[in-house]
Amino acid sequence: MPPLAYFENEFQPVADCKISIMTHALHYGTACFEGIRVNWNDVESDLYLFRLREHQARLLKSCKVLKINLPYTVQELCDLAVELAQRSGYKEDVYIRPLAYKSSETIGPKLHALEDGFFMTVTPFPPYLDVEKGVRACVSSWRRIDDTMFPPRAKVTGLYINSAIAKTDAVDAGYDEAILLTADGHISEGTGQNLMMILDGKLVTPPSSDNVLLGITKDTMMTLARDELGVETEERTLDRSELYMADEAFFTGTASHLTPILEVDSRPVGNGQIGEITRKLMTLYFDIIRGKNARYREQWCTPVYRRS
Ligand code: PMP
Repeated sequence: MPPLAYFENEFQPVADCKISIMTHALHYGTACFEGIRVNWNDVESDLYLFRLREHQARLLKSCKVLKINLPYTVQELCDLAVELAQRSGYKEDVYIRPLAYKSSETIGPKLHALEDGFFMTVTPFPPYLDVEKGVRACVSSWRRIDDTMFPPRAKVTGLYINSAIAKTDAVDAGYDEAILLTADGHISEGTGQNLMMILDGKLVTPPSSDNVLLGITKDTMMTLARDELGVETEERTLDRSELYMADEAFFTGTASHLTPILEVDSRPVGNGQIGEITRKLMTLYFDIIRGKNARYREQWCTPVYRRS
């Protein structure tokens, strides 16, 4: 079956979905999006969308920042995502990408008096970073976009040019991923991931006021650390030096899952191996996202083929 998308109020082959080269969003980055994992459960032969409602709710908040009026409620967006996954018939891990955009064919950077467009795609998607082996990261010389420039809590396409330059410079320098600091030099996040670390047995991560996206995977890890492992959690401003002294560190994100960071700026994190708490969180998380943990299934997982 050819890849499908939901576009202009119908499900149709991606190859038939066309937009104009004059589209405002293409010229000015005036679009916002989500990434939603749909995970294959081999025992049940079913797919599970992970924390679908939270993703669609975040999309509507990003739309508000861009003054995009989508004609859908959170529930309607959830139903569309499930139907897109169902109709596509995948039996492997896939990724759903809803995207809302300024569709007017008009010159001029602005947010007002423009038409809105929307589509949703689905595509096979293996882990984005090397989850099994872990990664080497560097602190980028580029700073994370600040709330005084554009709201970084909104998942807006134009903002990702900040991530793109940091990522490519890191890869060109031989690293796997970049860590961006805030304008005043505190740790913010990765290019498409939140950053978390274990310091003296506590799980710590930068607060949203340090210009991080309000990560759903980060929230998942905070919940699991607290409720399953009895590990204390804290959101606070973090210095670069704390990253060098952390016992464990990892990235979290829908695409990246939980990816251990083994090295930062050519210094090993902890003993340079995947840490004990990181390992425990990984084990819990990978079962949960496939609907294999009864405690979180109802709350966080939406089945695709077997509607409950
Ligand atoms: N920060 C940025 C910049 C991201 O793009 C992402 C991925 N959406 C995240 C953090 C992690 O967010 P989530 O866990 O909700 O995917």
